[in-house]
Amino acid sequence: MVKTSPLFTNCNSMRIGILGGTFNPPHLGHLRLAEEVAFTQGLDRVVFIPSHIPPHKISADDIVTTEHRLEMTRRACFDNPLFQASDMEIALQSPSYTVNTLEVIKKNENCDIFFILGTDSLREISTWKDYERLFILANFVVVNRPGTSFRSAWDQVPEAFREQFQEKGQHLVHSSSNRLIPANVLGLDISATRIRGLLKAGHSIRYLVPESVRSYIQEKELYRN
Ligand code: ATP
Repeated sequence: MVKTSPLFTNCNSMRIGILGGTFNPPHLGHLRLAEEVAFTQGLDRVVFIPSHIPPHKISADDIVTTEHRLEMTRRACFDNPLFQASDMEIALQSPSYTVNTLEVIKKNENCDIFFILGTDSLREISTWKDYERLFILANFVVVNRPGTSFRSAWDQVPEAFREQFQEKGQHLVHSSSNRLIPANVLGLDISATRIRGLLKAGHSIRYLVPESVRSYIQEKELYRN
C-alpha cells in the first residue's frame, strides 16, 4: 500500500508538480522540463518520484537498484529549492501504479496536482492502470520530446477518451474540470537510454547529467556492462 510522503503534508492549496519516471539515471532533460513547467504553471514544488521496479526487470533491462536510482534522483534535485525526490513508490515491495499514488496524495491533502509527462508517455497512456481515472485526480502537463508533438501523441489516444475533453484556448478540459496542458518546453534531446549507451561504450556523459550524478555513477561503477 502506498503511504503518503512527508513531501505532501501541509501542502493545502499548493500547486504541486509530480514527475514520475524510472530515473535510470536522472538527466538534464528531466531537470530542464521540471524547471520550465514549474515556472509556466506557477508550481510551489516539483516532486520527482522514481518508480518501483521488480527485481527480475532490473537485470533484464539494465536498470540499477532502487537505492541507486533514488540516491541519483536526490542528488539531481539537491540544488534547486523547488525540487524534491520522494521514495514513496520505491519504498514499496511491489510495483505501484500512478493512479494509486495520486489517490493517496489526494486523500491526504487538498493540493492541486500537476502530473508532468512526456509526449512518449501520453501516447501510451491507455496502457496505464485505470487511465481514465487519472484525469479525475490530477491536471496533466505534457512536455514535447524532440521530434514529437502534442497533437500526434494525442491522436494516438483512444477516441472515446479524447471525447471526454473540451478544447479551451491552449488547454483541454476534462469533464472533471482538470486540465490537460500542452507545454512547449525547450526540448533537450537526452534520454536515459542514450546515457546508458554512452556509459557502456566507455564514453563521457559530462554535461548530460548533473555533475553530482555523473560522479556518483563513476564512483559506484554503474552501467558498465
Ligand atoms: P529511458 O530512456 O530509460 O526510457 P527517459 O529518459 O525517458 O528514460 P524516464 O525516467 O522514463 O526517462 O522519464 C520520466 C518522464 O520524463 C517521462 O514522462 C518522459 O517522457 C519524460 N522525459 C524524459 N526525458 C525527457 C526529455 N529529454 N524531454 C522531455 N521529456 C522527457
